Amino acid sequence: MEVKSRQRFKNGRFKKKMDVMDCNNNVDLLSEEEKSNELQMFENNPTSPDKATNIAVTEYSDILQGRRIIDLAYFAKMLQQGCAGCEEPLQLVGCVSERKYGLASIFQIKCHKCGNITSISSGKRQNDEKNGQGPFDVNVKLGVALLHAGIGEAIFASILAIMNIPCMTSGNMKKVERRAGSAIENLAKETCDVILKDEAEKSSDSLSLSYDAGWQKRGSGKNYNSLSGHASMIGLHTKKVVGYSVMSKTCRKCDVATKSGNTVPDHDCRKNWGGSSKAMEPAMAVNILNEIKEKGIFKER
Ligand SMILES: [Zn+2]
Ligand SMILES: [Zn+2]
Repeated sequence: MEVKSRQRFKNGRFKKKMDVMDCNNNVDLLSEEEKSNELQMFENNPTSPDKATNIAVTEYSDILQGRRIIDLAYFAKMLQQGCAGCEEPLQLVGCVSERKYGLASIFQIKCHKCGNITSISSGKRQNDEKNGQGPFDVNVKLGVALLHAGIGEAIFASILAIMNIPCMTSGNMKKVERRAGSAIENLAKETCDVILKDEAEKSSDSLSLSYDAGWQKRGSGKNYNSLSGHASMIGLHTKKVVGYSVMSKTCRKCDVATKSGNTVPDHDCRKNWGGSSKAMEPAMAVNILNEIKEKGIFKER
């Protein structure tokens, strides 16, 4: 494919990308010219099957719309591996249907040589010991990304909508976020244990730790009423976190059930504080120290 130079207006000024792009935000993967060339190639192919039904052409405009998140190396390799029937390399223009799994897709691609249909996914899946094939990598990463960026599913869905990327349901997004959350929590706890042992070995007689707490809502001078707070302790020698605590005054599931008069369903409740927000700070310090004590590493002076 030849690289086009930037387009210019008659007066010689360069056209901005926006001038060149389709203003309906409905930009296809290929320009009109490139697309018709690709279709032409497909139609002129002497081995092309079902020319009468014209499947590839009609399905092309119906299916390959908008944008997708693709693991390029994996996808290219799968296309190269080719047809399950005759091993002829596959072309994306032969896609006859697409099944969405969150942000991942499985494309059914028709071989232009033998007509066999081969399924190719847009990215790798994780191994699941129970069920064999686990969730798609891209969906797992989404859970981590939502937590890392600190945004909710509504904001992410609106970003994808503008980008013209098909989105997953908010319920599924919450699921992947929760799955990532528990994995990150376990990792944080394991890391703290390792650092605490290291700190204890480097300390001569007692542990020297620094401590600070913070709240998610800033105190205004009059009100110090944040609904949640967090704290961490850092070792003097390792300069790493040996313990942390998070406190929350509310839980959405509990609140909704209580307001509607229903019994509270069994859930991973994070409401663990009923006092004032300011009092969270000493309480979290005590929590962390008690946890360290329980681990049997705490050294009395
Ligand atoms: Zn084939
Ligand atoms: Zn709750």
